[in-house]
Amino acid sequence: MERGLHDRDRAGVQDFVLLENIQSEEAFIGNLRKRFQENLIYTYIGQVLISVNPYKQLPIYSDNDIKEYRNKHFYEIPPHVYAVTDNAFRSLIEENKGQCVLISGESGSGKTEASKKVLQYIAACSGHQFTVESVKEKLLKSNPVLEAFGNAKTNRNINSSRFGKYMDIQFDFSGTPIGGHILNYLLEKSRVVNQNGGERNFHIFYQLLAGASEEQLKQLELTRSLDHYNYLSDGQNGAVKSIDDAGDFKVVQQAMTVIDFKQSEQNEIFNIIASVLHLGNVSFTEAEGIAKVEKSATVTTIAKLLNVDQKELHAALTNRTIDARGDVVTSPLNRDLAIYARDALAKAIYDRLFTWLVQRLNISLQAKDLRGAINNVMGILDIYGFEIFKKNSFEQFCINFCNEKLQQLFIELTLKSEQDEYRREGIEWVSVEYFDNKVICNLIEEKYKGIISILDEECLRPGEPTDITFLAKLTDKLSKHPHYICHEKSSTQVQKTMGRDEFRLVHYAGDVTYNVNGFLDKNNDLLFRDLKETMSKSDNEIIRSCFPATEYKNKKRPDTAITQFRNSLNNLMEILMCKEPSYIRCIKPNDQQLPGIFDDELVLHQVKYLGLMENLRVRRAGFAYRRTYETFLNRYKSLSKTTWPNFKGSAKEGVRILANDLHYGTDDYRLGETKIFIRFPKTLFDTEDAFQA
Ligand code: ATP
Ligand code: MG
Repeated sequence: MERGLHDRDRAGVQDFVLLENIQSEEAFIGNLRKRFQENLIYTYIGQVLISVNPYKQLPIYSDNDIKEYRNKHFYEIPPHVYAVTDNAFRSLIEENKGQCVLISGESGSGKTEASKKVLQYIAACSGHQFTVESVKEKLLKSNPVLEAFGNAKTNRNINSSRFGKYMDIQFDFSGTPIGGHILNYLLEKSRVVNQNGGERNFHIFYQLLAGASEEQLKQLELTRSLDHYNYLSDGQNGAVKSIDDAGDFKVVQQAMTVIDFKQSEQNEIFNIIASVLHLGNVSFTEAEGIAKVEKSATVTTIAKLLNVDQKELHAALTNRTIDARGDVVTSPLNRDLAIYARDALAKAIYDRLFTWLVQRLNISLQAKDLRGAINNVMGILDIYGFEIFKKNSFEQFCINFCNEKLQQLFIELTLKSEQDEYRREGIEWVSVEYFDNKVICNLIEEKYKGIISILDEECLRPGEPTDITFLAKLTDKLSKHPHYICHEKSSTQVQKTMGRDEFRLVHYAGDVTYNVNGFLDKNNDLLFRDLKETMSKSDNEIIRSCFPATEYKNKKRPDTAITQFRNSLNNLMEILMCKEPSYIRCIKPNDQQLPGIFDDELVLHQVKYLGLMENLRVRRAGFAYRRTYETFLNRYKSLSKTTWPNFKGSAKEGVRILANDLHYGTDDYRLGETKIFIRFPKTLFDTEDAFQA
């Protein structure tokens, strides 16, 4: 399906390497806009797919469309997430190379939707035995479950993923999926206890309240009224027209059944969800500095749902035991601390339930026989995009650090693979300058000197560390760093734009000002021992496995939140580094979440920080266009009498003759081992449509 001249004018170029003026941001955005207006949401930069969220259903994902893309070469057919997937899938099967599809972009840009299309394509194109159907079914059904518990309506996206997800699909030698494995990253658990205006808690709370039967509600002691629950901050406004919570609840329950969740497990899960809602309604009074539970009936309900001892839970919510060098001392909490303890418990329960769910899914997805599947793995990464809010806190710091790491990987892998290809094909090239964000990664994670080390050190320091002493240390140690900006040592101009309790990082994607308030608490992530102990004795099996007794008995401090996150990220980088990457870079065209609106400024900002212009420059700096000799000859043999209609010699010889007959300049192209490389396709092809292939 090749596009002729008229198509090209109306619909822009489908690969940016063909753009005439690659230095011009205007031309870049113009091309994306033109295509967006024609509902052509996908465009390539070489092998990288750019996807602009259409915010409407397009008729391009049918079974027929999948067939269209099956086994077609990347460039023979319009850009599509299916083409990228097919390409990766074929490399996996034919070359036995582990693959990963890395999806990035900001909140609402379409990452999760893209990841589902990847999975849909794989499921449609691979084996059809009975057992396989069940593996595929389970893989597909893991999405509604994870989304119910891990997604929420935010002001940016009605179905925003509040966790990072990496999913491996394992195949046997014939390309049949035989299992899967999911890794989850840092759930935004603060959402469990509080949400910004207009935002919701995780979907599952609303689904349960709207979708459960009267009998189930009675058993969970819940009422359908959203106003009744403090943890649903927006009360009745949480019921949104565009979300069918009751219908979604059915989907989730069905999915759980397909994934082999036993009825008893499902009951335990919903008991836990209900207990979190009830926890939010536990309030305290204070007399002489000592907190008292206001309505103990609520605590009784929670104890019943969590299957823990009612008296013990009551005591654990209002007391704290400290084991100081063998001296075990229990002291009562004041009201503030009791509230802190209650919220910490709600967050811990929900967060650990989520991790339990992922592990439980993994048990169901586990391949029965992994022989030969070592390399036959395709990973899909869908992780929260870079976030710049008016007020940025610890969560944004973690998320943006994660994005720095992924950008670093993008740089290493794309540039590296570009260089590898030239080397493999025996082509000389001069490398191109680009901004390497390693310096920012180091600023954050370097041992002893980086922000994480300084934060951890402050968290562990005896005495009275506070968020402000942490900030002072940062400033003391990092004020000279080109990517660190502090209030104290900045010009009055800059000082006007930030507070005394803030620091600013110059990220690859832009400047972000972080407020240190809460950094220490969130990093310590402290759950009082009494609560851990109570939970560890629960007769709810999920709760008991989420709070092992060894944890509260262990005297050693657990790793801080950021250290755990850094370790899991580094682990992820290792997994990704040894795979062949495909990239999908998602762009959000407007902030209104509406179809048909293309906001130039908003798009330009994303194009800049995703490094797409640089990506294009690198791609164009060497040889922008490359095709195997066979493909090239087939496509262009009509342009020379020697090669038309049939050429007897090798494809390489044919291409050499073609290049000669068409008077290509010697510096304009190279003949590699298996491919022709063309520096600027525009200058070499006479007919406009020739290079639209
Ligand atoms: P977050 O980082 O918040 O999780 P995201 O990048 O995963 O955001 P999605 O949830 O995938 O964003 O997309 C947001 C919404 O945009 C979807 O709910 C859907 O309505 C719409 N959307 C995204 N991609 C497409 C598409 N290809 N076709 C139609 N609608 C889409
Ligand atoms: Mg998402």
